[in-house]
Amino acid sequence: VKEAGRNGVAFFEQSMQVTASKRLVVENQLRRALALGEFKVYYQPQFDSLSHRVVGAEALLRWEHPEQGLIGPASFIKVLEESGMIIEAGRWVLAEACQFFSRLRESGLVGFDNFSLSVNISPRQFRQSGFVDLVRDSIGSQDLPPGCIKLEITEGVVIENISDTVEKMQELRQLGVSFAIDDFGTGYSSLSYLKRLPLDLLKIDQSFVRDCASNGNDAEIVRAIVAIARSLKLDMIAEGVETEEQLTFLRGMACHCYQGYLFSPPLDETAFMDLLSRT
Ligand code: C2E
Ligand code: CA
Ligand code: CA
Ligand code: CA
Repeated sequence: VKEAGRNGVAFFEQSMQVTASKRLVVENQLRRALALGEFKVYYQPQFDSLSHRVVGAEALLRWEHPEQGLIGPASFIKVLEESGMIIEAGRWVLAEACQFFSRLRESGLVGFDNFSLSVNISPRQFRQSGFVDLVRDSIGSQDLPPGCIKLEITEGVVIENISDTVEKMQELRQLGVSFAIDDFGTGYSSLSYLKRLPLDLLKIDQSFVRDCASNGNDAEIVRAIVAIARSLKLDMIAEGVETEEQLTFLRGMACHCYQGYLFSPPLDETAFMDLLSRT
């Protein structure tokens, strides 16, 4: 028994080490990818079903791995966050998005007032000191008008200090930035917190959209989320819309802004511009 116990412990320690060193390998690869410019930003169009127009896009990080091809953030965003590299990667995404907006403007494909780019901001990035200045500089360096950048935050940003969070959001709003609450309803959000945040937009998470047309519970959840958005006077956008049935259901809820494979997957810059010039 003792022997087995020892082996058990040894095995456990060994597997922990493997995980830790594997993690370090991934971390180093990511650091290298960042330095070598292997990260790319893809843009997923957001559609308004009333105007039938592309009214915005969400910037989504991708890793163009020389051997493995395009890698989505699900497999590495956590490592970026936990290693703190998300600060640098996030800064890069924001700068990239601002430059992209500027190129879109120059191409005449979008105006200053009918299009916005949404950028995901991790809690760690949001809490970093100097974040307000970073946003100001990124927008300012491209002479972008206020309102062109939306920041998508999750409930995670408020875990620590709500009044600091609100203050920071107010400062950013003075720069013309607006805020979307992302993944709402998937964490431990408290409505009393949500109510205090100066938000503009609520994203209906894809986990609720997935079965809204087929599962009564999910339909009720979406109904409740829509009611919350209304009572807080927030605009709504649904993500992960894949089927006509989901679209019909959401339209019935008076949600008119959509993102999802039914309309378009995230696209690289060239494909995104192609789409804009076709619509
Ligand atoms: P998210 O912010 O909830 O983004 C939506 C995800 O849903 C994206 O996954 C998008 O590609 C995917 N998606 C879009 N339409 C559909 C659809 O119709 N069906 C399904 N099943 N999925 C759809 P992606 O690009 O893999 O990103 C995963 C997550 O990684 C994002 O979730 C976000 O939390 C994070 N992320 C991505 N880019 C960044 C970034 O630049 N910074 C930070 N901090 N996080 C990022
Ligand atoms: Ca998002
Ligand atoms: Ca989401
Ligand atoms: Ca998410």
